[in-house]
Amino acid sequence: MDNRLSKRVNEMAISATLAMAAKTRELKEQGIDIIGLSLGEPDFPIPEFVKQAAIQAIEDNYHSYTPVDGYGDLKKAIITKFKRDNNLEYKPSQIVVSTGAKQSLANLTMVLLNEGDEVLLPAPYWVSYADQCKVAGGIPKEISTSIETDFKITAQSLEAAITPKTKMIIYSSPCNPSGSVYSKKELRKLADVLVKYPEIIVISDEIYEHINFSGNHTSMAEFEDMYDRTVVVNGVSKAFSMTGWRIGYIGGPEWIAKACTKMQGQVTSGANAIAQRATITALENPPSKIQFMVDAFKERRGLILNLLSEIEGFKTNKPEGAFYVFPDISYFFGKTLRGKNINTASDFSLYLLEEAKVATVTGEAFGDPNCIRLSYAASEAEIKEAMRRIKEALA
Ligand code: PMP
Ligand code: GLU
Repeated sequence: MDNRLSKRVNEMAISATLAMAAKTRELKEQGIDIIGLSLGEPDFPIPEFVKQAAIQAIEDNYHSYTPVDGYGDLKKAIITKFKRDNNLEYKPSQIVVSTGAKQSLANLTMVLLNEGDEVLLPAPYWVSYADQCKVAGGIPKEISTSIETDFKITAQSLEAAITPKTKMIIYSSPCNPSGSVYSKKELRKLADVLVKYPEIIVISDEIYEHINFSGNHTSMAEFEDMYDRTVVVNGVSKAFSMTGWRIGYIGGPEWIAKACTKMQGQVTSGANAIAQRATITALENPPSKIQFMVDAFKERRGLILNLLSEIEGFKTNKPEGAFYVFPDISYFFGKTLRGKNINTASDFSLYLLEEAKVATVTGEAFGDPNCIRLSYAASEAEIKEAMRRIKEALA
């Protein structure tokens, strides 16, 4: 803690996913053979047609500042994608392109929250939601779940968490970190509660939309009675492997989109020109173009679940989407392994890093202190070797 720094940043947690990625990189640079299962990013290259579009954009001299809310033709491509994949209708004034879905989410908390507003976070939740809310003055209110209910909230647990101060709810489906996918029926039950509280805004993070093994993606915004107060967050990081190109977007009520544009106009301006041009091509292609990645992730899910089931003490759900497993490892709490006391998920994750040379992320960062997250966006060989090392380190 450095008192010259703001209270805001001093009280903020470091992104646990990025911190573990940095640690992995550092250890690898020291020549230590770490298998990184901490960072959620596809290990496939960017599709050739997307690369070509970026090269073409450079050739075509796309060098200027871009419109703050995104190029008009990119917004058109996003609108077509929303219609094609989600049967959602938007006008250009309802779309804002950002420097990654992470910025889209940060914009939303900054423009919607006042000091003391409560934000419902079904736990486990994606690592940055809670701290983004806090920075904006909001108070994260976790709704806990458990592995027994596939880490999903219910209408009852949702309603019990609502107070007069509740301003919004943020969740992802498919969920990072649990891989859980809310069915249309489940979402409808949650919507039935939310219609009674019209002041609550829903932030539906759908960045893993296409990485869904059941193939049934539903957006809360598809329900007519929720459309006007749901903001859909999406991006190209996961579906097109474009994590470093930094393009995300929202579709939502015009008054919120306008405010996000205003916020972004003072913070970053419009997103990167070349990446926006490439995103047009990415989104114009049907999801079938990336089905091979989804098929590979499904195979790997089977592999990692199988191998984990052979290790005593790991309890898993069957993730229906994204590329993470989120085992409950509380079995190890109170145990001593190779002279090291394991009392928390962070102790366990650190133990795996030091003793198995496998990088994972503690569940504490996702609001679930009994679990750890492993990303299976890694090759089959890496997954097999990682599980072998973990098994050995825990034997
Ligand atoms: N939401 C979720 C659930 C994520 O896992 C991530 C991680 N990439 C993001 C948002 C942010 O994505 P982006 O790379 O577009 O900023
Ligand atoms: N979303 C990825 C993850 O959860 C990338 C890291 C990040 O943006 O925090 O691992």
